Amino acid sequence: MSDTHQHHSRHPGRLRSDTCDHDWILDRDVECADQETITAMSEKAWESQAGGLMARSGFYRRMFGEAGVDPSKVTLADIAALPFTTKSHLKDSQQQYPPFGEYLAVGDAEVKRVFQTSGTTGDPCAIALTANDVSYAWGRIQSRTYYATGVHDHSRILTTFGAGPFVAGSTHRVLENLGACIIPVAPGDTQRVLSGLQRGLADTTQGTPTFAQYLANVINARGLDGPSLGVRHIISGGEPGGGIPAIKATIEQAFDAQVTEVYGLGDISPSLFGECPVGGGLHFCGQGIVWPELIDPDTLQPIPIEPGGVGEPVFTSLAREAMPLIRYRSGDIFEIQDDGCACERTSFRMRCIGRSDDMFIVRGVNVYPSAIQEIIADFRPEVTGRLRVVLPETGVSVDPPVPVEVEVPDADNVQPDLAERLNGAIRQRLVFRCDVRFVSGSEFGDPSYKTRATVRRPS
Ligand SMILES: [Zn+2]
Repeated sequence: MSDTHQHHSRHPGRLRSDTCDHDWILDRDVECADQETITAMSEKAWESQAGGLMARSGFYRRMFGEAGVDPSKVTLADIAALPFTTKSHLKDSQQQYPPFGEYLAVGDAEVKRVFQTSGTTGDPCAIALTANDVSYAWGRIQSRTYYATGVHDHSRILTTFGAGPFVAGSTHRVLENLGACIIPVAPGDTQRVLSGLQRGLADTTQGTPTFAQYLANVINARGLDGPSLGVRHIISGGEPGGGIPAIKATIEQAFDAQVTEVYGLGDISPSLFGECPVGGGLHFCGQGIVWPELIDPDTLQPIPIEPGGVGEPVFTSLAREAMPLIRYRSGDIFEIQDDGCACERTSFRMRCIGRSDDMFIVRGVNVYPSAIQEIIADFRPEVTGRLRVVLPETGVSVDPPVPVEVEVPDADNVQPDLAERLNGAIRQRLVFRCDVRFVSGSEFGDPSYKTRATVRRPS
């Protein structure tokens, strides 16, 4: 027994706390397959998705009709021949044909679950799922992602994702199917999270990186012994941050835990990528169920999914029944990481570095707020790690100094030279000037919800 344990503990695909005896890859036949196999399997799924699409979806009948293309005659290899679908298409369609829009591709009676999105960037959307969508088009992918992060049947997970905005209704089902013990706590209930952890209820937590960082700050401020809480695995999702080295390191140190990330989007799958314990980026987990592309968000031209590639991911549902989306623009920006992971998964790995609409331009250079976040995270605990870049009311060009609001524990009690030190560090690493202003936490809102990294104000 102890030999087995040691053998597995040494495997790079396992968390150091994972002592289980089973395979660490859920769907080994697809997750470790070569690209030819995945492509063949995806083309087959696409054939049946595309074949019925024009008959089932009034939205796509109209869109593809206007573009003069027939999706059943287009293979995934030349899917760029089809137009994109955007969030605003979906919103407009739901407004015009409430509640689900004209892209609902099944009869009402087949809709068995409905999620309302958080509406971070506007009105919430209603996402309809059939029973098969819940178990397969979302469920199978989600199971692969959480299993990849290291959630196995011995995990005891304290979750702080709400049932609504973070579609945890589905996530809970997935965690349950993986055999884990789930301890749900309402978002924002820090006291209950802490008391649960102090009583040793959980070895794993799941939430936004902002919330994990907030907990780490609370632990430090109250002089609690973080490592003694027994949390060894922190799953970070909902926003970028868990992959920013300084943020990841402070969370890991506060708990003596390992941080791994999940990424997803409700319109495709609430978690679609999962980071294995090797680290170094999140594995694509939608093999055969979702088809990924990468594009330049300005020119809309394809970018090869290869290490170093930066662009906006676009996803096509291969197996969704209720709301199949074709070439759906995520609005996020990925940076493709090195391939050839030691865990044996063959899919590409990425980091989400921000939202394309959080991007701004300083003297012709594209900048994401995460670049500034990475620098200010080194200044904890003087700052909390959260920030907001203030953009002009319209446009994306910002003349330096770039106004940045940085959250601090107490804005009335800041070291007089802190602004100068922050501005200096940013200037040195990013080669443009910022104008830092300090704000107290209350102005940023609840850390357990997604926070936008930019805000627009008239200048
Ligand atoms: Zn891996």
